[in-house]
Amino acid sequence: MSEKSYVERITPQEEDFSRWYTDVVRNAELADYAPVRGCIVVRPPGYAIWETIQDGLDSKFKETGVENAYFPMLIPQSIFEKEAEHIEGFAPEVPWVTHAGGEELSERLGVRPSSETIIGTMFAKWIESYRELPVLINQWCSVMRWEKATYPFLRTSEFLWQEGHTCHRNEDSARERAEMMLEIYRSFIEDEMAIPLKVGLKSESEKFAGAVDTFTVEALMQDGRALQAGTSHYLGDGFAKVLGIDYLDEDGQRKPVHQTSWGVSHRLIGGLIMVHGDDRGLVLPPRIAPTQVVVVPIYRDETRTTVLDSCENLKHELSDQRVHVDDREEYTPGWKFNEWELRGVPIRLELGPRDLENDQVMLVRRDTGDKMPVKRDEVQETVDNLLQEIQSNMYDKAQNFVDENTHEVDSMEQLQEIMQGPRGFVIAGWCGSAECEAKIKEETGATIRCLSYKEYDYGIGKCLCCGEEETPAVVLARAY
Ligand SMILES: [Zn+2]
Repeated sequence: MSEKSYVERITPQEEDFSRWYTDVVRNAELADYAPVRGCIVVRPPGYAIWETIQDGLDSKFKETGVENAYFPMLIPQSIFEKEAEHIEGFAPEVPWVTHAGGEELSERLGVRPSSETIIGTMFAKWIESYRELPVLINQWCSVMRWEKATYPFLRTSEFLWQEGHTCHRNEDSARERAEMMLEIYRSFIEDEMAIPLKVGLKSESEKFAGAVDTFTVEALMQDGRALQAGTSHYLGDGFAKVLGIDYLDEDGQRKPVHQTSWGVSHRLIGGLIMVHGDDRGLVLPPRIAPTQVVVVPIYRDETRTTVLDSCENLKHELSDQRVHVDDREEYTPGWKFNEWELRGVPIRLELGPRDLENDQVMLVRRDTGDKMPVKRDEVQETVDNLLQEIQSNMYDKAQNFVDENTHEVDSMEQLQEIMQGPRGFVIAGWCGSAECEAKIKEETGATIRCLSYKEYDYGIGKCLCCGEEETPAVVLARAY
């Protein structure tokens, strides 16, 4: 295979964005299709990204007092069905285990689509008094929601995620927690993943099954579609009442707890690819990149030892960064350049005999493609500064894209035109009626991504559908 063949195997974004995406996923070896309907295999380069996401979020959760635990993936039907809205929302997507140990089970077991009911059942056993509240639990696991079509990371039957579940003494404390977790998602996705977001509240029809309020963070992909990147729910006391999660309060009364749940999944990896990627492959923001700097040695037989030693020294000097020296003998430097570009590594350092003579290294930025020599004793400082610059450059670029692709409209015709054309976020008025919402979706393919909430205020406008004046504006988009 020639050195160019990597890039040639990727369909250009302009030609077919969806094929570009799957080409990147497969060629960068992030994931592959599994021999199980709707499922993917997350390969090591993809899993490494998941691990940096996991590490980053996990420590933020723990800073707020959240502890990790693990609950079974199978939920007895009688438990799962306790909350009516919940079961109704998930029923079509739940696979059931009916046989085990060679015989039919007396009670079917559902594969969890989310764990509110099984975790709540345990909360009911554990929680006794107000002194034990709040209870703040998270689990990293996979869940299953049966899908007809597979789209790596974005739509798969089984996916990796985390689900937080908390119990509180009252509504205020639970709402505060739901908003706190939303803010953790927002800051992590914007600051670490360099993905700008629209933040707000879900409409009645789009909220989580069984929740009182669902808060969401929504990102815009380069094809103009939105991706729901994370949600946090205030569950009220609905699950608590049906599952019997109550506590003895100071006044001697037993009261149901107020709950939250919140989650992000490995679709964040899909978002990362679709927000930042280009025709050469993945482009990773430095803070999330499993490898931030790759060092590629260039040598002939007689210079091999000197060059490799110097590369190892370089790695040592850059010990604050995640650095990889690609010393594979079987591949040419050109091959390696392409491969690391495809994988999205933010900075590449090339080091050959001529660089050694000139006391320098060649530095290439993945985000801009700029190439520059750097004095050997300035590498550490340059890399340090540049990683920060790349991070903010990538965010600014993505923010510009969002700004250029956010439109204000006040009629269905305009919305239709935008949805058939460039797409993007649309800000428009909505009267709040389910009829108008359904009609908007049916006629334009756009859904309401979020409503204003506190400081995330989208203003006032005329309802797109019925023309009612002075209604709160919402964010619409065609979504993944
Ligand atoms: Zn209306």
